[in-house]
Amino acid sequence: MRIPEQKVEEILHSADIVDFVGQFVQLRKRGKNYVGLCPFHNEKTPSFTVNSEKQIYYCFGCQEGGNVFKFLMSYKKISYVEAIQEIAGDLGINIEYEENKFGVQSETEVLFDINEEAARFFSNNLLKSAEGERGRLYFDNRKIKINSIRSFGLGYAQTKRDALVNHLLEKKIDIEKAIELGLIGRTDKGVLYDRFSNRLIFPIFSPNGRVIAFAGRVFETSDNMAKYINSPESKIYFKGRILYGLSHSKDEIRKLNSALLVEGYMDLISLHQHGIKNVVAVSGTALTEDQVQLLSRYTKNVVLLFDADNAGIKASMRSIEILLKQDMNIKIVSLPAGEDPDSFVQKFGKDEFLNCIQRAVNFLEYQFSIYESSGKFADPVSSTEAIRELVKPIGLISDELKRSMLIKSLAEKFNLREKLLESETEKVLKNLARETGRVDKTVSKEEALQLIDKSVSEREKELKPLLKLEKEILQILLEGKSSILDYIFENIDVEDFYLIEHKKIFELVRTMNQSVDYFNVNSLLAKLNDETLQKYCIELSVDKYRISDKWDSNNVIENEKSAIKHAKDLVRKIKLIPIEQSIRDNFEQIKSVKDEKLQIELMRENSELNQEKKFIEQKYS
Ligand SMILES: [Zn+2]
Repeated sequence: MRIPEQKVEEILHSADIVDFVGQFVQLRKRGKNYVGLCPFHNEKTPSFTVNSEKQIYYCFGCQEGGNVFKFLMSYKKISYVEAIQEIAGDLGINIEYEENKFGVQSETEVLFDINEEAARFFSNNLLKSAEGERGRLYFDNRKIKINSIRSFGLGYAQTKRDALVNHLLEKKIDIEKAIELGLIGRTDKGVLYDRFSNRLIFPIFSPNGRVIAFAGRVFETSDNMAKYINSPESKIYFKGRILYGLSHSKDEIRKLNSALLVEGYMDLISLHQHGIKNVVAVSGTALTEDQVQLLSRYTKNVVLLFDADNAGIKASMRSIEILLKQDMNIKIVSLPAGEDPDSFVQKFGKDEFLNCIQRAVNFLEYQFSIYESSGKFADPVSSTEAIRELVKPIGLISDELKRSMLIKSLAEKFNLREKLLESETEKVLKNLARETGRVDKTVSKEEALQLIDKSVSEREKELKPLLKLEKEILQILLEGKSSILDYIFENIDVEDFYLIEHKKIFELVRTMNQSVDYFNVNSLLAKLNDETLQKYCIELSVDKYRISDKWDSNNVIENEKSAIKHAKDLVRKIKLIPIEQSIRDNFEQIKSVKDEKLQIELMRENSELNQEKKFIEQKYS
């Protein structure tokens, strides 16, 4: 299946990037642009810019940029097609799919379809087959309602070890692809078998709600069988980048600006069933940085709800570090011993559960109580060690204010001088910087340019004014004003450009200008298949507002006359550069040549060059 190109254009033109990005990033108007804190890197002053006119965004801090599709892809870590689908859904635009040229689906679409077929098969087994009674009983015992079973697509894998194999063969599905997805296995002797059998099935969804993998749970836990088996990683499933339940919880998480992080699938489903819907589960893996990054796009506030056993405590401690590194605000709930979120909410109900959440403590208090209960504060030696351990996570916080607040509270708790704790924190910070090899200093663009400048040869230095001019010309081209475009194309040729990348962009804009009614950057970006060039164009078209604030206040572009004048200026300058260079070269030659005849020849040339120079100056003044 493929989305027709016209449809993509229609969606692109109907979506307003300011509205769209504004759902995820708080934007403020500044001049012609909107600015906000970049969702793609940590920052305290906004360098993330959205331009409504051009329908693009760009971050001066991390150079992330593109159109509305690109934004959603990066923000939600979803595919191009998924981004289009989501935006279309938002706008109420119906997508009619078409078979692509060869009547073949894209590879990932094929994989999604196979997973969907398998999910349907498992679900029918559970809900409709006689054998599925076992599964129905299991969920019934665990008080999982039919609505939840449907909404989370829960299923049942039969005891027969070729049920899915036969089903997929019957449906004429590419078995090799099903093997790739880890649904089917093949023995050394070449016999196909179901990798999930005799298990309860939990489909794992992408944030967008596509089935990307499965988890299968055994009926009875025993030592010789893993409680859960999971799909292996595939082209559509990256274990460490998925949070179970995010597809079902993301709206509520955004609404409440808080997420509950639990350990298991059943915890999550059970909480949902009780109307607590801002939950995600780590499920199967230890919490990863990618998962936290994914979550941080919906909220910065996380409440950890791990089991109170040793494994749970260990997992919490580890998760705290990862969460702190990405500047998340963490609270920790300790449930009574022996309870997990599932059992707790079943036993005591929603209100009591929410009370527990209310009593959540910050990570320092949590870790303190863990150390205390394990007797670490009993003697001075282990006590010092414990305090050092407590300081460690504080060092992970990049927000200085937050850090000093926590140090203060820790100091008060132990009656310690703040300075002492601060120096401990410093040590942690230094170690951290060494470990990650990361220097906590961002080089500004200007600084970077200066660094580059130092290493460029003289020849390149000579080129600098020319390159700057070329950039300025492309910038006004990318503005897309047709009178300007016409003027530039009448007067400048691709040969006037020096840099190959500039030539490419110039040519492409010229071709597009000839073939479409009106030109805009957004369509240009769609035509550029080189990502570096794409980025460069975005940078060019946003850069100007930063280089010159006057641009905005003078309304140069608003005013047709001054816009043409500006274009004329640039044309004159770019035409003059090579002539002036020739005049200089010529003059050097005159000085060095001894032969009188040659000298006269050169002088004649000199006057011709000067005439040409005058001509250009007049023509473009
Ligand atoms: Zn950024």
